[in-house]
Amino acid sequence: MDERLAPGLYIVATPIGNLGDMTSRAADVLRRADRVLVEDRRVSARLLQHVGSTARMINYTDHTSEAERDSILALLADHAIALISDAGTPLISDPGYKLVRDARAAGHPVNTLPGPCAAVAALTLAGLPTDRFLFLGFLPAKEKARAEAIAEVAGIRASLVLYESGPRLGDTLAALADGLGAREAAVARELTKLHEECVTGTLATLADRYADAPPRGEIVIVVGPPAPAAEASGEELDEALAAALASQSPSRAAADVAAALKLPRKRVYARALELAGK
Ligand code: SAM
Repeated sequence: MDERLAPGLYIVATPIGNLGDMTSRAADVLRRADRVLVEDRRVSARLLQHVGSTARMINYTDHTSEAERDSILALLADHAIALISDAGTPLISDPGYKLVRDARAAGHPVNTLPGPCAAVAALTLAGLPTDRFLFLGFLPAKEKARAEAIAEVAGIRASLVLYESGPRLGDTLAALADGLGAREAAVARELTKLHEECVTGTLATLADRYADAPPRGEIVIVVGPPAPAAEASGEELDEALAAALASQSPSRAAADVAAALKLPRKRVYARALELAGK
């Protein structure tokens, strides 16, 4: 007989397609939990059966009321409750954040069991910079709101990660190409499944490719960061310095021009001294 799990909330990541990606720790917690919170009972029943869990399921979705959440919180005092979503990591474009917030506020232990997440899996496949990335979830469906959401992040120097569905993929790629310009991107599809693929190209070529050919299955779009702004030329530097030196000391002029042109201050100061004949 397994030892009882300590009471508390357990956030359990589950596979995004390949059942082999279920971690042994996740399976163990699902078997030993007193209750499992699920989005869709039919989807999760299959997974629970696969790991040999007979735990009772309770529905937990974005529509769960505050009163229902309160009754789950009351159970947490002396029950181990696992939260799963239909696939992947709960809370990532999936329900759960309010429950975690309230469980923490009420002093219940909250444990996380990390595992598959489509956003992270796509980032590892795309071959685009991963040192800084911004997860955008699903963009708004309506054209104007979508364009606004894209404009809002256009200047951010990071890769962007978005969830999308096949039928909307072409329109979304076209809107991204319009709003972000010529950037490298990747369309990662059916990750960890039989037909997994990752197609790369510029946003415009990908928008063309999928315009009249919506792919099947689940999709993540990854967009590379904007190209770094071109460095100011020597001529531009001299022009800016000449103007600044007309009314400022070389040191003050160099500080202002270096900031405006995003150039190293030491280099700009050396040139300011040359131009000032010092
Ligand atoms: N919580 C999940 C996670 O950790 O990735 C995401 C849930 S969100 C409701 C579902 C979306 O995730 C899909 O519409 C798709 O954009 C993406 N997704 C999920 N599984 C995927 C897969 N196997 N391949 C590509 N994208 C996937």
